[in-house]
Amino acid sequence: MKLKNLHLNFYRNCEDLKLDFDKSKMLIIGKNAQGKTNILESIYFLSNLKSPRTSNNQELINFEKEYFKIDANLVKSNTDIELSFSYTKDKKREIKINGVKSTIKDFKSVLKTVLFSTSDLMLLRGTPQDRRDWLDIAISQIYPAYDDRLSKYEKIRTQKNNFLKECAKIGKINETLLDVFNEQLSITGSNIIYIRKKYLREIEKFSAAKHQIISETENLTIRYDCSFLGSNNKVEDIEYIQEKFKESLGQRKDEEVRRCQSCVGPHRDDIIFYINNQEATKFASQGQQRTVVLSLKLSELDIITDKTGEEPILLLDDVLAELDDVRQNYLLKSINSNTQTVITSVDTILFEEEFLKDVQICKIENGQIYK
Ligand code: ATP
Ligand code: MG
Repeated sequence: MKLKNLHLNFYRNCEDLKLDFDKSKMLIIGKNAQGKTNILESIYFLSNLKSPRTSNNQELINFEKEYFKIDANLVKSNTDIELSFSYTKDKKREIKINGVKSTIKDFKSVLKTVLFSTSDLMLLRGTPQDRRDWLDIAISQIYPAYDDRLSKYEKIRTQKNNFLKECAKIGKINETLLDVFNEQLSITGSNIIYIRKKYLREIEKFSAAKHQIISETENLTIRYDCSFLGSNNKVEDIEYIQEKFKESLGQRKDEEVRRCQSCVGPHRDDIIFYINNQEATKFASQGQQRTVVLSLKLSELDIITDKTGEEPILLLDDVLAELDDVRQNYLLKSINSNTQTVITSVDTILFEEEFLKDVQICKIENGQIYK
């Protein structure tokens, strides 16, 4: 998969920005606050229809304008594809593939990206929600139907929570209806857990190998932390998961009624990383934690390529500056010469002459590109 060009209109501070991708590596150089992250964010947006920085699309519209628009041309499986997305202040969006209106699902299935930014380096130190978001986005890149499962689960959970609040108001619980909600939650929820566990098993394989190379000795393992699966966490049997989920919902019924919330399920789960069997969040140094994230991000690339037969576009937002020599070298050497990569940096100092020889360098100032 290759992005050929990108055109941003009134996208944050990029009022009219055009980029032609002539080589497979592009380095965007600019001082702070010029629009480097905005460019990568817009490419990521085309592949996920959401920004990694905000869930409010209106923030993406230039302060002084009424809408933003992103246009891009790419080549996928030897076919030219034109993507276009626009969004107005009154929340009207237009999504088009090759000039024809498209559904969100079809649009999201076209462009695949892996974004690696400095905030990802905090993945292990972040909240369980951050780790679930990382996992969910990684999965939906290779399994588009997963998004539907997540929204279905969230819809039922909201309905159940509203129902519990209504019951609290009238001081009476409709047990039959609660059982219906719990049954639906356990069906959809166990499916989500099953897929997450399977994906983690897969990414553990790829990332442990990379982690071992960077660290020379360390063994990385990953565990899906789900309250009702306990130490049986290796089990990837969907019926077993559903049964345990239902059992746990039954056990915690009183608590849920009292708190008017759903207290168990995939929305409460976490992902735990271990280095040589020690929990990385608690014991690993900052460098070790960064090695985990670097290994994970590069593995996301491998998995997408493996599953879809197309290489995703790698977006590296300012991460080089945050890595030491060993990790910088590993990252730059790991990027296959075929993988289209867009890198942002404040200057070229961090990059070796050899690397820069084959890179297209663009300068950005105040949302505009200078070659
Ligand atoms: P850094 O090196 O600090 O990461 P950057 O080049 O990545 O900088 P961006 O995050 O891309 O900077 O932001 C560039 C500018 O865009 C910032 O000054 C920011 O205030 C501005 N900006 C953000 N949202 C909007 C918006 N909706 N309208 C106009 N400008 C915006
Ligand atoms: Mg930035």
